[in-house]
Amino acid sequence: MTTASIGTKTKRKPGSLLRGIISVRRVLQAAVGALLYLAVVQWQVGLLWVILAGSALGLVLGKFFCRWMCPMGAIMELVLGAGDEHGRRRSFYNYFKVGCPIAWAGGALNRLSLFRVKVGEPNRCIDCGKCDKACYIAEFAPEHSLFRTDLKNPSLAFSCSRCLNCVKACPTGALTLGVGPAAAASRLRR
Ligand code: SF4
Ligand code: SF4
Repeated sequence: MTTASIGTKTKRKPGSLLRGIISVRRVLQAAVGALLYLAVVQWQVGLLWVILAGSALGLVLGKFFCRWMCPMGAIMELVLGAGDEHGRRRSFYNYFKVGCPIAWAGGALNRLSLFRVKVGEPNRCIDCGKCDKACYIAEFAPEHSLFRTDLKNPSLAFSCSRCLNCVKACPTGALTLGVGPAAAASRLRR
């Protein structure tokens, strides 16, 4: 036991649980994607039901299906993941502007979904910009930023795939996936 933890409960860093989940996103996507594939191909679940359920999920989480559940999305991520970091982000930026019917519904619902990427702890934001550096939208559509007040929040854009790389990149736990307006940190601090 460390000195710091003697007599007190060890405090978890803000957002560490969510960041832990994000770090295994690809494993979760592969598992859920394989189940969905089996459901359609082996267990004869109608594809229309999958499309309807995936689209309805957009009301809660926006374009979440693409990066967390879709078997085709997992394969596309592997294919697009080839090459250098800049090229990979360019590919994601272009790919998530198109997609399939589930992606169209989820993308359209990004700005209305119950949960969206937001600065949950404004006082923790240190304006480091790491969230923007992790986001392909902020990189290729410079009118977007996750923390600057004068720019648009990329998580409300159609092409946000809810990868949550921005949340994972935030060093202070200020950024989160939460309910409520997705205002920039400095606006909330006023
Ligand atoms: S979840 Fe964050 S990093 Fe990913 S596309 Fe949306 S705003 Fe950008
Ligand atoms: S939200 Fe997090 S990553 Fe973004 S500028 Fe603030 S502290 Fe940095």
